[in-house]
Amino acid sequence: MRDDNCIFCKIAHGDIPSKVLYEDNEFKVILDLGPATKGHALILPKNHYHDLYELPDEEAAKVMLLAKKMAIHMTEKLKCDGFNLVQNNGEAAGQTVFHFHLHLIPRYKEDGQTLGWKALEPSQEELEKIKNIIIN
Ligand code: 5GP
Ligand code: ZN
Repeated sequence: MRDDNCIFCKIAHGDIPSKVLYEDNEFKVILDLGPATKGHALILPKNHYHDLYELPDEEAAKVMLLAKKMAIHMTEKLKCDGFNLVQNNGEAAGQTVFHFHLHLIPRYKEDGQTLGWKALEPSQEELEKIKNIIIN
C-alpha cells in the first residue's frame, strides 16, 4: 500500500534519506526537516493512508503505543521539560503532507513555540447545541 507520488512513502521505504530514530516492519520514526523544537520527529506508517480517517484501527492503536514509547525515550535522552503529540487532518487543520503522520514534539521551558488556539467563549446554549449535533 504505497503511493508513488507521496514523499512520505518514499521516505518510509528508504527511497529518500531521512534521519531515522526508529524503524520496524510497519513504522518509521524520523526527524522533521522543519522542526518546531530540538528533536521534533514524525511517526510514519509504511503503508500510505491519507489521514486519520483512513488509518485502520489496528495501526491507530499501534501508533499511540509507539508514540508513548518514543515520548518516554526522547524525554529521557533530550531532557526536555514536556511533550506535545500533534496530528493534523485536512488543509483546514494544517495538514501539508497527505500521508498520515503523528508529530512528536519535545518541549523545553522557554523554547519560544506556541502550539495553541484562541479560546472562544460559547454560551451554555451553544455548547448544548454542539453537544446534540455530535451525539445525535
Ligand atoms: P503537517 O503540516 O502535514 O502536519 O506536517 C508535515 C511535516 O512534515 C512538517 O512539519 C514538515 O516540516 C515535515 N516535512 C515535510 N517534508 C519533509 C521531508 O521531506 N522530510 C522530513 N523529514 N520532514 C518533512
Ligand atoms: Zn504515502
